[in-house]
This record gives sequence, C-alpha cells and structure tokens, in this order.
Amino acid sequence: MEVFPLSHKVEILSVGTELLLGSIANTDAQMLSQGLSTLGLNVYWHTVVGDNPQRAREAVAIAKQRADIIITTGGLGPTCDDLTKNVLAEAFGKKLYRDEDSVRRLEEFAKKRGRRLTENNYQQAMLPEGCTVLVNDWGSAPGCAFEAEGVHVIMLPGPPSECRPMFQYRAKPYLLSLSEGVIASHTLKLFGIGESTMEAQLRDQMNTMSNPTLAPYAKEGECELRVTAKAPTDQEAQALLKPTVEEIKALFGAKVYGVDVSSLEEVVEQLLLEKGLTLGVAESCTGGLMAKRLTDVPGASKVFKGGIVSYTNEVKAGVLGVPQELLDQLGAVSSQVAQAMAEGARRVLGCDIALSSTGVAGPDKDDRGNEVGTMFVAIATPEGSYVRTLALGNRPVRERLRIQTASHAFDLARRYLSGLPYSDSKKER
Ligand code: ATP
Ligand code: MG
Repeated sequence: MEVFPLSHKVEILSVGTELLLGSIANTDAQMLSQGLSTLGLNVYWHTVVGDNPQRAREAVAIAKQRADIIITTGGLGPTCDDLTKNVLAEAFGKKLYRDEDSVRRLEEFAKKRGRRLTENNYQQAMLPEGCTVLVNDWGSAPGCAFEAEGVHVIMLPGPPSECRPMFQYRAKPYLLSLSEGVIASHTLKLFGIGESTMEAQLRDQMNTMSNPTLAPYAKEGECELRVTAKAPTDQEAQALLKPTVEEIKALFGAKVYGVDVSSLEEVVEQLLLEKGLTLGVAESCTGGLMAKRLTDVPGASKVFKGGIVSYTNEVKAGVLGVPQELLDQLGAVSSQVAQAMAEGARRVLGCDIALSSTGVAGPDKDDRGNEVGTMFVAIATPEGSYVRTLALGNRPVRERLRIQTASHAFDLARRYLSGLPYSDSKKER
C-alpha cells in the first residue's frame, strides 16, 4: 500500500511577471499551501518566476532536483507569454499533443460567450503526452498532471477563481488517487493558551507519534492542533484519529473551543442558536470589531441583535447608562465600567447576553497611566455579570490587541453558553 509518507516534498511554482512586479499577491500559492497541508503534504518551497522561458527553465530544473511534487500556477492561457506547459514538458522530455476533448470544450466555452476561437486559443489544448487532463469547468485553459522521473507535476490556471476549484476538485482527487490510502484530519481550536505552552505539553507525543501526526499552528492569539491520520479507508483513519482527539481535549480541557470549527464567533453563534438566545455588544477599544466579526458569520442575524461603539464617555454614559461617577472616579478603563457597559447594552439592546470591551489599545498609555494592553472584557447575562482583566502589553500592536480583546469577550460568551467556568485558574473561580 502506498500512502503518502510525510516525507513528500512539494514545490509550488507560480509563473507570472505580475507577481514579480508586485502588481498582485501570490494568493494561489497561499491557497494551495493551505489545501496541501490538510492533506498532510509538506510544502517546502514557493517559487515565483516571470513569463520568461529561460528563467522558467532554470526554476523548473531546480524544482525537479529537490521536490517530488511540483504544482505550477499560471501561464496556461492562450497568449505567447503563457509558457508553463512548454517549459515543463520540455524539462521532462515530453512532447505536446493536441487534446481533441479539450478543443471541443474550448469551442463550447467560446460559443457560450458568443465568441469564435482564434488560432492561439488552440494553444490551450496542447498538452504534454500521457498526462491526465484536469478539465477546467471554471474557465477556459485546462490543467494537467503527469508523472515523470519520479516527480509528479500538476499544472493549474492562474486566475484564483479557477485555481481554487481546480485544486479542490481536480488536483486533490489526483493527489489522493496516488496513494491507496486516505488521509483524514481534524483540527482542534484552542483559546487562552500560547503556542509554546501548548507545544511544551505535547512535545513527547509530537516527537513519538507517526500515525496520526500532530501539527501545531498559532495565529492571532489562538492555537490550532491538526491531527492527521492515514489508513486504507476513511473509517480506519477516523478510528486512528478519535483517541488522539479525545486525549488532547482531556489534556487542554475548556481551552479547546471546538473541533473542525472556523472561529470562536462561529461557535458562540452556534451555541446561541441552539439555546434560542440573543447577543449584543458594547465596544470601546475594539471599535466595532466584535460586531464585525459576529456579522462575518453567515446567519448572524438570527442571534446577534446589534452593537454600540461607545468610544467616548458621553456615549458610555448617555447611551449605555454607565454611571458618571464611575467614569469620573475610576476612568473608562476599569473593571466596573466594563461591567456597567455590558449591563447597559443588555438593557438598551434588549438581548439575553451582552459583551463589552474597554481598554488601552495604544500606542500610548492613557491619561490615567494605564499601560497599553490593559483591557477589560465583560459579559452580562440573566444570571449576573463577569469581568475578565487582560494585560496584553507584551507585543502592543493596536490591531492585534483589538483582535485578542474581541476574542476574549467571545471566549466569555462561549464559556457561559457551554456551562464552563469563566476562568481555568483556581484562584479566580
Ligand atoms: P488565463 O487563461 O486567464 O491567461 P493563465 O493560467 O494563463 O490564465 P496567467 O495569465 O498567468 O494565468 O494569469 C491570469 C490572471 O490570474 C492574472 O492576471 C492574475 O490576475 C491571476 N493570477 C495569476 N497567477 C496568480 C497567483 N499566483 N496568485 C493570484 N492570482 C494570480
Ligand atoms: Mg495567461
């Protein structure tokens, strides 16, 4: 049985002068890397080369030496700068042939758009002999895949609207068909733990496990752990995954907020929906980010009532009803004001649960001397309120502080809705 060993080395070779000029970003390579990692394949190189035959040949020669899967993007179109197929075919000693099925599809594609094919359009149907044609239902230029000299080559079109589905529906099945087994993975999402702490707790497992494997990722104050297993069938792969997923959940407890979910806000909204509850927000330092993230989730209107960006004390007092004495005595950046904001939002917006944020996003201390990164997030519920105090000042980048503060507020909501304690620390409980 040939299963992808994790030693597979993938190189993504993007062809296009626009990329080198900085006119566009290489989002195809990013998308492919994300997709390939879920297959358990290691991408070791991203290479970009312009529409220049000589330099493209050199890039392919290098890729061929070091990678065993080369995935190209771009340069499959009809114009003379579209050189990818010629260069790859030449590098592997293959001739191009005219693929009549592709010609037919090009003709249909043109007819639907009321156009006639020009001579150079037929270029797109010239493919390396012996290849698997990757039919392009999202554009005109077909992709292709072949194996030669122990290297798998996959060519995909450049436009992201074509490259993405061509990877998903053509390249991925091709890659999976190379191995007899299946590769399955689950991603655990954690909040409230740093990547290094998480890794330290898992180091022994990570070093000794081979199937499933464990891969940690960190982003925006959150951590992910991807567990990947390979087996002859999906059922067997799932059986391998299950005990490890359970083990990790037990190890990290309430810090695991979901498996195969996309975000904290999505989990919060799902829980609200299940319980038939509504949410509202009162934001100061997050400046609307909480509302933005909540409304990024499709179907948010079923559970999210709305938000108030109460950036000044006037709005905190006038709209949310935060007592003026609190603002005068303690300042807006205080636990009591955070709580009064959440309670005010709950009342004003008529929602079951409200979240609030207040703090110093920087770059400077506030006029009461609160350090950058001093943040308070609060939750108000029918059972009472709770405030979490944050000190996020170790890397005080305004945008990052806002993202993390919003995530902490969402974490309070998901803990409340799941019946978990607001804090894992025994002191605080
Ligand atoms: P076409 O048939 O449209 O010519 P193609 O496969 O030849 O497709 P290119 O000509 O290289 O692809 O690029 C077409 C367009 O696709 C570019 O103008 C650019 O907008 C987009 N594109 C190309 N490569 C990438 C990339 N790596 N990442 C993001 N966008 C890309
Ligand atoms: Mg082109």
